[in-house]
Amino acid sequence: MPRLLLLMVLFLTAAVRGGDWQVYSVGGRDYLSMDNIAEFYNLPSVKRSEREVTASSGLRSLRASANSADFFINNLKFILSYPTVVHDGKICVSRMDLVKLIEPVMRPSAIKNAPTIDTIVLDAGHGGHDNGAMSLWGPEKTFALDVVRRAKALLQAAGYRVILTRDGDYFVPLEDRVRIANQYPHAIFIAVHFNSGGWGTGVETYSLAPRGVPSMMADGPSVSDLVQCTGNARDAENIALATASHAALVVKTRMYDRGLKRARFVVIRDIAIPGVLLECGFQSNPYDGKMIATPLYRQTLAQAILAAVTNYRRAVGGSGAPAPRVETIARDEAPAVSTTDYDTSTGRTAATAAPTPASDASTDEKPAGDEKPAGDEKAATDAKVGSDTKAATEVKPSSDAKPSSDDPPPKKRKPRPAAKAEPEDKAATDKTAKSPAPKKPAAEAPAPAPAVKKKKKAS
Ligand SMILES: [Zn+2]
Repeated sequence: MPRLLLLMVLFLTAAVRGGDWQVYSVGGRDYLSMDNIAEFYNLPSVKRSEREVTASSGLRSLRASANSADFFINNLKFILSYPTVVHDGKICVSRMDLVKLIEPVMRPSAIKNAPTIDTIVLDAGHGGHDNGAMSLWGPEKTFALDVVRRAKALLQAAGYRVILTRDGDYFVPLEDRVRIANQYPHAIFIAVHFNSGGWGTGVETYSLAPRGVPSMMADGPSVSDLVQCTGNARDAENIALATASHAALVVKTRMYDRGLKRARFVVIRDIAIPGVLLECGFQSNPYDGKMIATPLYRQTLAQAILAAVTNYRRAVGGSGAPAPRVETIARDEAPAVSTTDYDTSTGRTAATAAPTPASDASTDEKPAGDEKPAGDEKAATDAKVGSDTKAATEVKPSSDAKPSSDDPPPKKRKPRPAAKAEPEDKAATDKTAKSPAPKKPAAEAPAPAPAVKKKKKAS
């Protein structure tokens, strides 16, 4: 019976024992059970329901639902590259999601020696003839610019140098935004946009897809996923920044959490510094749109950006501390209350390690005369799911694309667990490739990161 045979092929599993990991191959892709992951991250309290499993220890937690791409780390929503599967009654997460998402968020060890930052590059989307998404109350370009100006004031007060890729209503091509950002090696880049798409609501955060990880703007894996982009040199910092930003955005705005997603938008793809793109609500939704039009909401967004920077600096501050937790978020319940250590009334951070203020010379960069048609640039900076513009955001397939590097599950103390070296999309077509490949030694296997300490420094 062909259907049965198909199912047998698709779900033929090969449990491979390696190190601490039990790797299952399901449909040609490697998965690990939530039980295994919970054990690895020392989350002994495991609660199961028919469709959900939550593993926690104190304030740290992982939560997954069966056959779902929604995944919660410390109550913050992330969108998996591949939905979970259920194998032997266990909810399982793909190896790629474990390696590229869960591990760097849970143990951001690779960034503990990240360069210090003294500069924040704020990128207001659109401008000039490019209005961005429209609401009854105004264009995206205007609201985005207002948010970055407000954020600039807060960040400068906290001691940062702030660069704006545009500081007026004029058009700046994406490549110029990238060029501006790349002038500041000790900077991070935060792009501010508002969404469009019917009655969609809430906030979402985009981090550059690591090599081998499909863009969530695409229909599925493609060869372009295998291209190493400039921004991929900062993968670890990118996910830390995105996590810090998304936590701040969700906690501050109390908007619906649409999750942290992956994409290859030009501005975060081609910059050499850590970057993130924020979608701060839906212009197309009357509720969101009306709120976006209020100065209060935009000030809240500015405070969220300040909090994002604070969170990020804490995460990469050399202590190996994990990205911020959002333990105070009661998902689907009452609005969250922030416990982060900045003073929301003044917007001041704990400025002990804040850099020296410097003059803002960025706005001299404005290429005001450039009035190319908006189409590609606008499309490439937007995050409209399913829009026909997504191609503009993707890297072109490259003939020299090679499979991504080995990405075994994270290492605790034993030899590397078994895992394939092929990219996911190749693996999906190669159902015989189930044998584990020898792994290189772990680059580093630090102790689990300590909990974030709450320090009240703001006056
Ligand atoms: Zn936009």
